[in-house]
Amino acid sequence: MKLFETTTEMGHEQVLFYQDQKVDLRAIIALHDTSPGKAMGATRLWPYVCEEDALRDVLRLSRGMTYKAACANIPVGGGKGVIIANPQNKTDEMLKAYGRFVESLKGLFITGQDVNLSPKDVRTIQSETNYVVGVYEKSGGPAPLTARGVLLGIKAAVEFCWQTQRLDGLKVAVQGLGNVGQSLCKYLHQEGVELFVSDLNPNKTEIAKILYGAKVVEPSEIYSLDVDIFSPCALGGVLNSLTIPLIQAKIIAGAANNQLEDEQRHGQKIESRGIIYCPDYVINAGGLINVYNEMIGYEEEKAFEQLDNIYSTIQEILLLADEQKINTGEAARQLAEQRILEIKKSKFQLI
Ligand code: NAD
Repeated sequence: MKLFETTTEMGHEQVLFYQDQKVDLRAIIALHDTSPGKAMGATRLWPYVCEEDALRDVLRLSRGMTYKAACANIPVGGGKGVIIANPQNKTDEMLKAYGRFVESLKGLFITGQDVNLSPKDVRTIQSETNYVVGVYEKSGGPAPLTARGVLLGIKAAVEFCWQTQRLDGLKVAVQGLGNVGQSLCKYLHQEGVELFVSDLNPNKTEIAKILYGAKVVEPSEIYSLDVDIFSPCALGGVLNSLTIPLIQAKIIAGAANNQLEDEQRHGQKIESRGIIYCPDYVINAGGLINVYNEMIGYEEEKAFEQLDNIYSTIQEILLLADEQKINTGEAARQLAEQRILEIKKSKFQLI
């Protein structure tokens, strides 16, 4: 990879590499945009096959955070941290050294918990730096807010498709019943939705069956169900050349990050099948809204107000995509870049 060419094209400000040989830490932090004063983004620990994969991931994810914050009207820029390690080799010393790396940026980068880091790990990192969010003492964790945001996004897409906000009678397939998927099922059940669910863990599907009358299907069957909405709430990359042709739903709207295996190709494929896709980083912004509010002093009312933007932003994106005959991912990117430009312009005018 030609690093400066790539960062110029993607618009990054800084990419920082850090190693502490004593504790086997190799980490990268990418700051895509710090113009609002700080960049926010969680840290993931992953056994990347090569350093280039780690770099590619951190660049893509940090830019995604800038777009996510812009679409959610949250006044922070995007950043991301990756620790290159096998989760089995994770140690407290390694995490503390990472905490010192974050601290060295003096608040320009605020981080939290992502893949392969537990709440306990976040507290270990926090022992070395003040610039960690997501202890959730006040808010009760991001998942319920994320699920509420997904519900709002679903309502916006339903309104766009069928000119109603009512969900009762609709069939929704939820893939993944973790923290977000389980909460989402609760909200959808309250709206009178008929639920179909899958998870690798049979205990989780059993809970949804008992509490929400959900029909349990095998993980491989979830894509091809005759439903109105498919809601991916498990892993990334689930929308790809194999799964997209199977999907019967009219709307795809779920919490999982990076749902499209290939943003361009698969975004286009979904559009050409006439399926409405709610871009993941817009509909799942409840998590960011939660941690941002933790950072500034959590007030539930304020967080819920910000969450309401998800509804109008999804509407705006679907309309833009429809008018311009572009896919919704492209429309989301245009909207995010326009908002970032406006923020920068208004800041410039103030100076
Ligand atoms: P989680 O780890 O609690 O739950 C994921 C669930 O998916 C697990 O129950 C797992 O068994 C299941 N799963 C994994 N592979 C599956 C498969 N092939 N088929 C069916 N089920 C499968 O995660 P979560 O916190 O609920 O988050 C869900 C998704 O939403 C993730 O992609 C996450 O990155 C994204 N997200 C979460 C938040 C949040 O607030 N937690 C915010 C934004 C985005």
